[in-house]
Amino acid sequence: MLSLEQARERILDAVRPLPAEMVDLREARGRFMAEPLRSAIDLPPSDNSAMDGYAVRAEDLASAAPDAPVALRVMGTAPAGVVLDKVVESGTCARVFTGSTLPRGADAVVMQEDVQQNSQDPASVLFVERAPPWENVRLRGEDVKAGALLLEAGERVTAPRLSFLAAAGISSVRAARRPVAGVLATGNELREPGQPLEAGAIYESNRIGLAALAQEAGAIPKIYPLVPDDLAATKAALELALSECDVVLSTGGVSVGEMDWVKAAFAAIGGRLDFWTVSIRPGKPFAFGRWQEKFLFGLPGNPVSALVGFLLLARPALLRMQGAREILPRTIPATLSEPLANHAGRRHFMRVTLDERGGARSAGSQASHILSAMARADGLVDVPPKTTFAAGTVVAVLSF
Ligand code: AMP
Ligand code: MG
Repeated sequence: MLSLEQARERILDAVRPLPAEMVDLREARGRFMAEPLRSAIDLPPSDNSAMDGYAVRAEDLASAAPDAPVALRVMGTAPAGVVLDKVVESGTCARVFTGSTLPRGADAVVMQEDVQQNSQDPASVLFVERAPPWENVRLRGEDVKAGALLLEAGERVTAPRLSFLAAAGISSVRAARRPVAGVLATGNELREPGQPLEAGAIYESNRIGLAALAQEAGAIPKIYPLVPDDLAATKAALELALSECDVVLSTGGVSVGEMDWVKAAFAAIGGRLDFWTVSIRPGKPFAFGRWQEKFLFGLPGNPVSALVGFLLLARPALLRMQGAREILPRTIPATLSEPLANHAGRRHFMRVTLDERGGARSAGSQASHILSAMARADGLVDVPPKTTFAAGTVVAVLSF
């Protein structure tokens, strides 16, 4: 049986980044940069005012004090978006607003709240304080210099990064195509939520969670109808999904029972199984294989096993296919507020909840059918076989 790391390595060796495409920035959220992107411009593009106020020559106000106000003539007004064609000469100032390009000659802005109207001369205003050079001025290029890196290849386009790219004038980016992930569930006992539940049946709960996780990982999920436990039906379902998608995430039917048809059906349609079973809990029955240039992730049916198996083994593959730099879940250090015990002989990825003070505790029952604990959990802690982490142990929580 493969270790988690061996299984992940086999998967990551098999999958390839998908070809890149140009993506309009409005559609680019969550995509991964296919190449580094540099700024063509300085950001801000020009020196500009950080305040509504008056652009001045700082040296003109060297003697300004409350008992010795300095009057400067207002030589013009520069609303945001307008570049004054006149120079601020000594003895003058310009009315400016937040974002106005700093008029030539000026090297500081005094906020309007600090300025007094001049009753003697309405064409000038009074300054009662000195202004250090460059006060309230946002300097050209202080955020980004022309030519500087905006984003690296493999970085994800997040909401703040969308704003960052837009500010640099970027309207589209090159990003790997999003993999289409087919999601199907096998099991005679499964019923669609919203339908009546007859004796012996359960509601199907894996596809919706897996589709959401796949989408969070950047893929385009495609949910397929329920698949009965039957070789012909499983073959047809796998073949359809594999032909329409880049990867297929199936659940159930991948154990050792005579109703478990996924592996046999996959082989029968020409799929080549790479490996089966991984030494982890939950999620041991896990099949990975290739069909043409497509991949099957045969996840277990138990709901917690399916989701954890996805997070540990399928998510990294979807991210690799998109050229992502970071393909493993981030870990958050947390201090156990109670012991966390794995009595079994296999590594257990135990579900934990985090509190605001950096503490972690078991999210509840760790059985692989207990969705309430999974729903409550913030992440997983990798507990080695036959190991108890005492309260107070600092653990790395794999965050969802
Ligand atoms: P299997 O892996 O097919 O042997 O299923 C293991 C357990 O998970 C059984 O109790 C199934 O009823 C349950 N199960 C399988 N698939 C699903 C599903 N899609 N939604 C909810 N429970 C499932
Ligand atoms: Mg089943």
